[in-house]
Amino acid sequence: MTSPVVVGRLAPSPTGVLHLGNARTLLWAWLSARSAQGQVLLRIEDLLPGAQEHLASVLSDLLWLGLDWDAPAPRTEGAVDPGELLPAAAGLPAVVLQSERFELYRRVMQRLTRAGMVYPCICTRKDIELASRAPHAEDKGRPYPGTCRGRFADEGAAIRWEGANALRRGRRPLGCALRLRVPSAPVLFSDRIHGPQATRLPDDCGDFVLRKKDGDYAYMFSVVVDDLAMGVTEVIRGDDLLDCTAQQVAVYQAIATHCDAQDLGGADPRSPMPSWTHVPLVLGGDGRRLAKRNRSVHVQQLAAEGVSAGRVRRWLARSMGLPDSGDLRDLVAAWPSHRTVSDPVVFVPADLA
Ligand SMILES: [Zn+2]
Repeated sequence: MTSPVVVGRLAPSPTGVLHLGNARTLLWAWLSARSAQGQVLLRIEDLLPGAQEHLASVLSDLLWLGLDWDAPAPRTEGAVDPGELLPAAAGLPAVVLQSERFELYRRVMQRLTRAGMVYPCICTRKDIELASRAPHAEDKGRPYPGTCRGRFADEGAAIRWEGANALRRGRRPLGCALRLRVPSAPVLFSDRIHGPQATRLPDDCGDFVLRKKDGDYAYMFSVVVDDLAMGVTEVIRGDDLLDCTAQQVAVYQAIATHCDAQDLGGADPRSPMPSWTHVPLVLGGDGRRLAKRNRSVHVQQLAAEGVSAGRVRRWLARSMGLPDSGDLRDLVAAWPSHRTVSDPVVFVPADLA
């Protein structure tokens, strides 16, 4: 069996229930892969606090919307039977949970650490503010000034230093974060909607955190490891993530240079990077992006109010510049020739009334 050319993924982050904006991005990703006879994998990004409690509702919303998915490759780490999360999903293809993939993340991190690409950092937020005198302290925060680059021989030394420091100050030791050495040359990538991008990471964010002080892996790291290990060829997600894509490209480059297939559970670390599409957000009538606080746009709430899934799909389709149909087969057929809507879309509840 040859592997499909296009491998897309649905990667919801269930820090709350799905709303129409999330549903639109998921449908976009699904249509893009399905219209190319590609595979769709489902990976739930459940590393953030509170994500576990919404696993079942995210699955149930996907089923309600009619978005199906394919089984990941055999022996994919963290693949679970969705019936364990939601009885109605029993018998469906496996779902990949990030929370079950720590061993994979640990292997890759260890390799990057040994290669000297990653180093321990014990700085607090306050240390970083004091140390950086960058003139452009905008809302993104100042770039990390590199205080701990080359400071410690290894993670153990950093932890001992931090432990002694904490003892002196009479506080609990905080452990150390792990940061990636960012390249000094601009990071380049192209987005299918936003066009070519170039970011100089030292000016943008500096060496950034791949593993936090509490031991959790950062999104920037786990998502790249996952997409590589799962053979994903296209990433389609909300455009609030466009700004952090250059950091992910830097992680791809580091992994491609220093890791081998064994680290990635058999996948080739030098596979081409996926294509990037950052989908415009859905705004509410107030001009602000839809948020989980607004119940009227929750997929579950719409279903409870008796709005049919077909009606929701029709609205989503129209908002993407597709024909006025709630039938997924029509939408798959229309996808290749439709004109991509690259502006934010405004949703008013009357649209579904
Ligand atoms: Zn530091």
